Amino acid sequence: MKILISNDDGFQAPGVVALYEALKDVAEVEVVAPEHNNSAKSNALTLHTPLYVQRVANGFRYVNGTPADCVHIALTGLLDYRPDLVLSGINNGANMGDDTIYSGTVGAAMEGFLFGVPSIAFSQVERNWLHLDAAAAKARELVLQMFEQNLIGATPWLLNVNIPNLPLDQLKHVKLCRLGRRHAAEPVITQQSPRGETMYWIGAAGPAKDDAEGTDFHATAQGHVAMTPLKVDLTDHDHLSYWAQTASKLGNPIKSA
Ligand code: MN
Repeated sequence: MKILISNDDGFQAPGVVALYEALKDVAEVEVVAPEHNNSAKSNALTLHTPLYVQRVANGFRYVNGTPADCVHIALTGLLDYRPDLVLSGINNGANMGDDTIYSGTVGAAMEGFLFGVPSIAFSQVERNWLHLDAAAAKARELVLQMFEQNLIGATPWLLNVNIPNLPLDQLKHVKLCRLGRRHAAEPVITQQSPRGETMYWIGAAGPAKDDAEGTDFHATAQGHVAMTPLKVDLTDHDHLSYWAQTASKLGNPIKSA
């Protein structure tokens, strides 16, 4: 099994090191990760600056780009083979509900999926690396079980996995979930720069709004590993017929009054 690992916290982040260490004895593992923290970069690609790849002493490669850049260039020319699996993470903090839209961790995994490779985004729920060893062991267990069950094959899929920061013996079994929803983000934070300009800092993500049973928020709060299959199609299928009626009245020239 050949595994490509990336992340969004950067190649030096404890999460990507732990994921690599957990899998290096059971697969051929290659790490191609961003040079710097790229959280919330989603699927962004760098189009207007050249990308450089550097290799460091532990064999990891880093790129002066985004998580999606890393997977993109790895799959389209950097690697001389096609990995069986793309993993992203383990992220420092939850990627649940609306987070998945912004997440660079999910973005890296989605890039693998878009190129037809089964891909998993791993995140720890709390942002403190507590019990990272347990999260890595869980990730290893999941990958090995999927491999044994022949789930890692020609059919691509995209999974989002969130792991509570608990010791291994307290982590409850994997629960299949839908994404919850968050409230809108906290307000932007403004400060004065030393030169008197106003600086704006994006506020924190909002708290959970829909954390009902069946959601990733609910499962992880109960100590379960939450797993959500994701798709890329953003079409609002539920409202296609509503919009069909509405859209039929749109786009005609406006009659002057
Ligand atoms: Mn991150």
